[in-house]
Amino acid sequence: MADPKGFLTVQRELPKRRPVDVRIRSWSEVYEDFGKDRLEKQASRCMDCGIPFCHQGCPLGNLIPEWNDLVYRSDWHEAVERLHATNNFPEFTGKLCPAPCEAACVLGINQEPVTIKRVEAEIIDRAWDEGWVTPQPPTVKTGKKVAVVGSGPAGLAAAQQLTRAGHDVVVYERADRVGGLLRYGIPEFKMEKRHVDRRVAQMRAEGTEFRTSVDVGVDITADELRAEYDAVLLAGGATVRRDLPVPGRDLKGVYQAMEYLPPANRVQEGDFPASPIDAAGKHVVVIGGGDTGADCIGTAIRQGAASVTQLEIMPQPPAARPGHQPWPTYPMLFKMESAHEELADMGGDRVYAVSTTAFLGDDDGNVRALRLVEVGGPDTGFAPVEGSEREIPAQLVTLAMGFLGPQREGLLEQLGVELDQRSNVVRDADYKTSVDGVYVAGDMGRGQSLIVWAIAEGRSAARGVDAHLTGESALPYPIPPTARPIA
Ligand SMILES: Cc1cc2nc3c(=O)[nH]c(=O)nc-3n(C[C@H](O)[C@H](O)[C@H](O)COP(=O)(O)OP(=O)(O)OC[C@H]3O[C@@H](n4cnc5c(N)ncnc54)[C@H](O)[C@@H]3O)c2cc1C
Ligand code: SF4
Repeated sequence: MADPKGFLTVQRELPKRRPVDVRIRSWSEVYEDFGKDRLEKQASRCMDCGIPFCHQGCPLGNLIPEWNDLVYRSDWHEAVERLHATNNFPEFTGKLCPAPCEAACVLGINQEPVTIKRVEAEIIDRAWDEGWVTPQPPTVKTGKKVAVVGSGPAGLAAAQQLTRAGHDVVVYERADRVGGLLRYGIPEFKMEKRHVDRRVAQMRAEGTEFRTSVDVGVDITADELRAEYDAVLLAGGATVRRDLPVPGRDLKGVYQAMEYLPPANRVQEGDFPASPIDAAGKHVVVIGGGDTGADCIGTAIRQGAASVTQLEIMPQPPAARPGHQPWPTYPMLFKMESAHEELADMGGDRVYAVSTTAFLGDDDGNVRALRLVEVGGPDTGFAPVEGSEREIPAQLVTLAMGFLGPQREGLLEQLGVELDQRSNVVRDADYKTSVDGVYVAGDMGRGQSLIVWAIAEGRSAARGVDAHLTGESALPYPIPPTARPIA
């Protein structure tokens, strides 16, 4: 156990975000350094509970009390070994995970929970700095060939596990760079892409092959893929976006978030000097109150938007855990992400319980305003409040309203895999689809979810593939596809 009195003597502390006026002038990550000594103090707050609910809260089953204890004792090298035992990419989760583990932390019953996510991030950052993260190529090769379709966190985790198990793994990616939403969805200020690049370099050194700009189902057919490989693992994500079919939807200036964010990320990759969809000087409206919406806000502010407004159809969530979402469930709370802080600083609004009824255009077909109406909660069926209609200026609108599942046309249709009612790919407890030798992991089977789940599923599906190819597997046991964090 870390310090037996740590939770009594040390208060929860997190690294500070750089001042808003400084950070919005750059695209680098927003947090300041925390320092080893302060972090070790934070780790000392872990109580090493008899039943560590944080394990259940974390979809990866991360060995949280073990690495908290090791960090407290300054054994950072062993800490990263324990962290890598359950998580291929702790830098992705350490920076981007909503940390359901902290919602399930026992200390959180009557105090602030342990800063688990920050400890995770610092362990892996230190490990990279010290040169402890090295390629781990397999010692024995099986001669079996596996194709992984999609290079998001699910595909990467599966590919790394399968390569290390001795198989010849090729990752196909239709984009020009590897990473999935880590690369072109999540902005640089949330996670710098160098973190993805160095993992890909590690994977290449282990023997994983990457083929980018290959759309499987178009450039290579499903039959060709199955003929060439002993197994196929689908990790193509949930790419079908929810739309808003109201009058004026086809006006210029109304974009899906995933049309708006990728070019902004490409500017950071050096592909072009400015984004073709630029918010500079414009009144921006972001429709959708989730993570993707926050990413649009932070991006628009850095591009120099004149104003930014975020709209959400649901009522504003509570600031503290409500009675019907008790510990250790993951509560839906009002969040103040870095982008929200920046929004508040520029005087922008987060407007709840409103629905967009129309986009209004100018004579050139550009959007100039948005008409909205206040609505009741979900129990009323979001009924419009009479007389509450109003217009707000909108010269750039981004739709960040979620995703409806994987793309059916092309690969999935060619394979003929069964889909469920939500149009996700059906899989069994080994992550096998209805087609023999074809497996699925991440958002493509689960529906729109989280990076931590994508990694957990990629690891689990890799075990299914490995057992299919060799008759048994020494890879870690899978989490059941139906598993959820305590909720
Ligand atoms: C803007 C945004 C921000 C987010 N922020 C967070 C966050 O902060 N924290 C968090 O936990 N989650 C976040 N998420 C969710 C998270 O990114 C996803 O749950 C996760 O990336 C899913 O991983 P995946 O590997 O299943 O799929 P993806 O990351 O979507 O990767 C799928 C890849 O497959 C490729 N592909 C698809 N079909 C084919 C084909 N036929 N041939 C070749 N390649 C193909 C795609 O091009 C893509 O690169 C965010 C999502 C979005 C959209
Ligand atoms: S991956 Fe997420 S849930 Fe798991 S320990 Fe890290 S922050 Fe917590």
